[in-house]
Amino acid sequence: MNALPPAAEPAPAPLPRTFDDERTLLVKVFGKDRPGITTGLFATLGDFGVEVIDIEQMVTRGRITLCALVTPPAGGAPDAEGALRSTVHRWAEEQRLQAEIISGTGDNRPRREGRSHVTVLGHPLTATAVSALTARITEADGNIDRVFRLAKYPVVAVEMTVSGIATERLRSELVAEATAQRVDIAVVEAGLHRRAKRLVVMDVDSTLIQDEVIELFAAHAGCEEKVAEVTAAAMAGELDFAESLRARVALLAGLDAAVTEKVRAEVRFTPGARTLIRTLQRLGFQVAIVSGGFTQVTDHLVEQLGLDFAAANTLEVVDGKFTGRVTGEIVDRAGKARWLRRFAEQAKVPLEQTVAIGDGANDLDMLNAAGLGVAFNAKPVVREAADTAVNVPFLDTVLYLLGITREEVEAADAVDGDRPDH
Ligand SMILES: [Mg+2]
Repeated sequence: MNALPPAAEPAPAPLPRTFDDERTLLVKVFGKDRPGITTGLFATLGDFGVEVIDIEQMVTRGRITLCALVTPPAGGAPDAEGALRSTVHRWAEEQRLQAEIISGTGDNRPRREGRSHVTVLGHPLTATAVSALTARITEADGNIDRVFRLAKYPVVAVEMTVSGIATERLRSELVAEATAQRVDIAVVEAGLHRRAKRLVVMDVDSTLIQDEVIELFAAHAGCEEKVAEVTAAAMAGELDFAESLRARVALLAGLDAAVTEKVRAEVRFTPGARTLIRTLQRLGFQVAIVSGGFTQVTDHLVEQLGLDFAAANTLEVVDGKFTGRVTGEIVDRAGKARWLRRFAEQAKVPLEQTVAIGDGANDLDMLNAAGLGVAFNAKPVVREAADTAVNVPFLDTVLYLLGITREEVEAADAVDGDRPDH
């Protein structure tokens, strides 16, 4: 038996090319979109044996812009590039498209450090607002790498990817300008964490639902006005929440606890609430509610919406009547932030990957503690202190702040036979 010859050393794999110092051709076509344009362009380029380095394509009101960055024709025949140019132009003419071919070197410059996603929600989004915001980015030496639309309904939402400026600084540059321009804005750090599974913790009264639950109870006790006055002062931060809660609950003493059923039926969801929660759950987010209101109602919401966690106060009941007291640990401003931390721990989600949404002064600690704190149609004191404010009355717009597009929401609804709830 002959010995096998020694195995040859495998040839080293070629190093990946960066194309940095190589000649490249940028091919851009623009015109009416129809099926087959991308296929046609690349089939035309394919005949010249070029390699593809980058492709960007978008369609705006039925007009396609397609850019391809490719290597020069393979083989190095003297007039191969001239032949490629005339062939592409001929093809474009047949397709009634405009074509441009620009020769140069390399690719885009590498993106600089400090990358953020900036989401702008406009209702309406004016050209002046876009100009003012982008001017701030440029003045701060930031670079806008990419812009695309997330939604056109119920607000126009666009996302910009910005590099070259630290996220914190970019946020402070843009928040004041956004307020002046009457648009809502969120600035978050780019990175893999954005795609990680996360936890959303929401306030209930005037956030998830349109009502203040204690006022619904108070209406049955005939003390609605008195309670509403105290609620308004507490939410504006003029009163200590725990103290105001006790004062309001005391007014319910003697009320038949059976009204709970009626109150549960009276609760009105905020437009977009069901869409927001359904979409977050489909994406694998965990969703919690934390409320200065009452477990008598939040337990029902948890069941209705399939939520993961909840914390609220409990109205004490003795002999079928409310005593005018709450039992257990009071969920107040500090309590809400405490529950956010507990839920994050239970959900095994780092605090930086949590999102908190709320409207009242008692939500402020929770909004500040979360990775992204969203003031939702909030009282001025809350709006000013929060990183991000949404001032349109649609809760599902929060999805856009997380980079989720309206099309994705509608596509997922269509599969499951659901419809957006406004
Ligand atoms: Mg609230």
